[in-house]
Amino acid sequence: MQPRRIEVVRTHVLEAPLSEPFAWSFNATSVRGACLVEIVADDGTTGWGECYGPPRLNAAIVAAFRPLLIGGDPLATDVHWLTLYNQFRDQGQKGLVVTALSGVDIALWDLKGKLLGAPVKQLLGGAFRSDVAAYATGTYRRGTGEARDYICDEVRGYVREGFGAVKLKIGFGVEEDLRLIEAVRETIGPDCGLMLDANHGFDAIEAIELGRRASRHDIGWFEEPVVPDDLGSYEEVRRGQPIPVAGGECEFTRWGFREVLRRRAMDIIQPDTCAAGGLSECKKIADMATAFGVRYVPHVWGTGVGLAAALQLLAVLPPSPPRTRALQPLLEMDRSEHPFRQAVLTQPIEHRGGRVAIPDAPGLGVEIDRGALDRFRVGEAAV
Ligand code: CA
Repeated sequence: MQPRRIEVVRTHVLEAPLSEPFAWSFNATSVRGACLVEIVADDGTTGWGECYGPPRLNAAIVAAFRPLLIGGDPLATDVHWLTLYNQFRDQGQKGLVVTALSGVDIALWDLKGKLLGAPVKQLLGGAFRSDVAAYATGTYRRGTGEARDYICDEVRGYVREGFGAVKLKIGFGVEEDLRLIEAVRETIGPDCGLMLDANHGFDAIEAIELGRRASRHDIGWFEEPVVPDDLGSYEEVRRGQPIPVAGGECEFTRWGFREVLRRRAMDIIQPDTCAAGGLSECKKIADMATAFGVRYVPHVWGTGVGLAAALQLLAVLPPSPPRTRALQPLLEMDRSEHPFRQAVLTQPIEHRGGRVAIPDAPGLGVEIDRGALDRFRVGEAAV
């Protein structure tokens, strides 16, 4: 193959209003947005990525990356990652610089796979699995109605759809949360997995109180009990209550997770592939987690592009512990309203009875519907 050059780096800022706003412990939204990254090689081959977080800010940072990428080798994913990271390191070790870098890195992996005619999972070392069990994320708060009623209806629907586990949003106050947890456990029955996500709505004292009292409901993990920048409180929550502690959707890069792992601040880490540094970095973080004996369950909350990236990573997560019937990683499937989550793909990624097949086609294994991008685009594309 002839050496190739990166010729175009462009972003697509997409946005759509929701039919009804929804809320979690510290915020609410009435729109869904995304920043997709498109990188084109000189032969016209195109790769796609997605950045997690505020779309316009991500797009602005990708624009700042552009001169460092144009003309470069589209196969040199690690070289580009470190070049961009080092360039912005002094002000960009966490947050938006890394979320923007994640979208670029995912697009480069998709492009590399398409140029080499291989799925990303093969290029990352090979797939340990061809499909993965999914759990349902939802149970956001609405502006109207009794939360306990509509949330129990919602989780009943997930069980009926075949999901083996659901994640419940809490962080609205210990007593209210405990009443809801009890009602949801009763609704889904004893055989369905139940996880809790506080979106860092507690301090350590409240989180320990909630964890102690909720543990009798057989809880899979307690996600983001406290703010992400306070690992000391994470350590306290781990020590002070019996439910495994999860977190990491607001943590970044191998250096950020080095601290989490070294301090054993979490039992399960949840890097977001579109935020923590992309496929290059998340594979490294996953291998670090294996070395520390900490479980890895990716956070997923974007469009089908982010979902496809998470699936390629899920394929290569090492089985751990290494027994014949190894524990298998789980896919997070966000079931909240998202007008273009699947519309951006020519073929949606869906579950069947709670399991999702990992695409085999080159790159991320998905194709983009440019018509959908045109419909939902609110910013940049022409570069
Ligand atoms: Ca979460």
